[in-house]
Amino acid sequence: MIRLENIERRYTSDEVETTALAEVNLAVAEGEFLAIMGPSGCGKSTLLNTLGTIDRPTGGQYWFEDRDLAELPEKELAKFRAARLGFVFQSFNLIDELTIEENVALGLAYRKTSGKKAERVAAAMDTVGIAHRARHFPHQLSGGQQQRAAIARAIVGDPMLILADEPTGNLDTTNGEQVMNILAALNDAGATIVMVTHSPSHADMAKRRIDMLDGRVVASAMRAI
Ligand code: ADP
Repeated sequence: MIRLENIERRYTSDEVETTALAEVNLAVAEGEFLAIMGPSGCGKSTLLNTLGTIDRPTGGQYWFEDRDLAELPEKELAKFRAARLGFVFQSFNLIDELTIEENVALGLAYRKTSGKKAERVAAAMDTVGIAHRARHFPHQLSGGQQQRAAIARAIVGDPMLILADEPTGNLDTTNGEQVMNILAALNDAGATIVMVTHSPSHADMAKRRIDMLDGRVVASAMRAI
């Protein structure tokens, strides 16, 4: 589904040049659950943001099916993101003024969808076990519930790829495990997931893991089943 070829991301400021990604080659197949690990500053977020087309590489090619996204103009990328990708962030990024169901419905904005919107929102909330909080506001929910709502927002539009940046980073052990169980269940049901994590035990729940160092992928391992 995805192929990164020789991806490079350099940041140039007045005098300093930082290479956030160098010679990254990575393929992600449909139905994969991939964990990205590595020390702080090694390029994990840059890689995830590149996959999410939020960050544009300074070199290389990003093939998503048959299109090279590295070449696509911003307007096309925005459409692509809305139609194909779902994002989950460490800090949930829910909008405080909106109810949980309104937040989840945001995942359908800018997206052509089949079926009734309200039904899809209800189904997504059901999937993550948050339906009973539909009319509550984010601040009335625990961190774990907020992250589950954020996952509902990510999946409501039925994306081809879910990108999660340290989804359990702000959660305690129990809530972190719940969120990981939801991601694993979504993957079992066919979702393709790429996740950045600092937790070895959470990385073990993915099917494959890559380790990064200094902007490069230095190791790749499949989970022993
Ligand atoms: P990680 O997610 O693994 O902590 P990042 O992808 O955030 O790492 O960062 C990789 C490298 O790129 C780091 O050296 C970081 O300082 C640098 N970097 C990230 N964003 C910028 C930016 N906007 N300007 C300059 N350097 C940046």
